[in-house]
Amino acid sequence: KADIAMYHAKALGRNNIQFYNDGMDQNSSRRFTIANSMRRGLDRGEFRLYYQPKLDVSSDCIVATEALVRWQHPELGLLAPTEFIQLAEESGLIVELGEWVLREACRQNMVWRQEGMRGLRVAVNLSGYQLQHSRLVETVRKVLDETGMPGELLEFEITESVIMQNPDYAVEVLNEITNLGIHISIDDFGTGYSSLAHLKRFSVNTLKIDKSFVRDVENNTTDAAIASAIIAMGSSLNLKVIAEGVETEQQMDFLRDNNCDQVQGFLISRPLPADQALKVLRQKCIGELAQGREALKE
Ligand code: C2E
Ligand code: MG
Ligand code: MG
Ligand code: MG
Repeated sequence: KADIAMYHAKALGRNNIQFYNDGMDQNSSRRFTIANSMRRGLDRGEFRLYYQPKLDVSSDCIVATEALVRWQHPELGLLAPTEFIQLAEESGLIVELGEWVLREACRQNMVWRQEGMRGLRVAVNLSGYQLQHSRLVETVRKVLDETGMPGELLEFEITESVIMQNPDYAVEVLNEITNLGIHISIDDFGTGYSSLAHLKRFSVNTLKIDKSFVRDVENNTTDAAIASAIIAMGSSLNLKVIAEGVETEQQMDFLRDNNCDQVQGFLISRPLPADQALKVLRQKCIGELAQGREALKE
């Protein structure tokens, strides 16, 4: 790749060689800095969780949040997961980072639970490396035990491609996880290649329509057809369907008209630090709703 860039740069003249080199150096030196400061970042507690609400369409209540990791890097500022998750997988540090994310998400959800949001669940993203190479089930049991979190309030988001890397093993692990009461969502659904045969081998709870289909759903007939087909399929398989990346009222109207169960996106709320997320949670009635439900059960 570097050679091709050099070749083109040479064809364009000397200054361009300089330009290409600088660009590549900056990029790889940023990656190098990120990869090399991760150990220290974990030790110093530089990672943060942001929470993005999931709204139930028919009740207009927030029923869950998704925990999204960020890194408050001392030199580079606030880093998005797209800049460091893959590097964390390459170094194996994703196992430790993932355990921190899980524990912190459960701890925070229990704090909110104590503040009255009793039915609120939290979703945690799992990468392929975590599923294949860590003692995930053991870690999950330990964290639920230590935080007092009911398994039923935890959800894992995994992509189809993560399952397809090693379907037999993934199915085995996911069955153990669902036995703990934990819910499973298929993230970015529709972007991976079809794995319905594998998906029926464990209990999936939710399909999450990828935001690439939501973006132009009002104008692009193919995207609209895909989104409504996923919703129809989910409903006939008895799965919940959630749409991610909802930014406009028009997208929201389409999803409501097509009976999508839940929505998530900037229209409802951006991912927020816990203290700011709490304000949004308070506005959207989860406390009363969930308490009402629990009261009914008692
Ligand atoms: P994802 O799980 O599919 O998360 C959705 C991404 O879309 C998030 O980006 C979120 O901030 C962004 N998003 C939410 N609403 C909107 C919207 O209305 N419009 C647009 N354009 N974007 C929206 P983020 O936080 O940068 O995360 C990117 C990816 O990094 C996630 O994709 C997930 O795959 C991964 N990730 C995040 N946190 C973790 C983690 O703790 N562990 C692992 N293994 N992966 C994580
Ligand atoms: Mg996700
Ligand atoms: Mg997603
Ligand atoms: Mg995504």
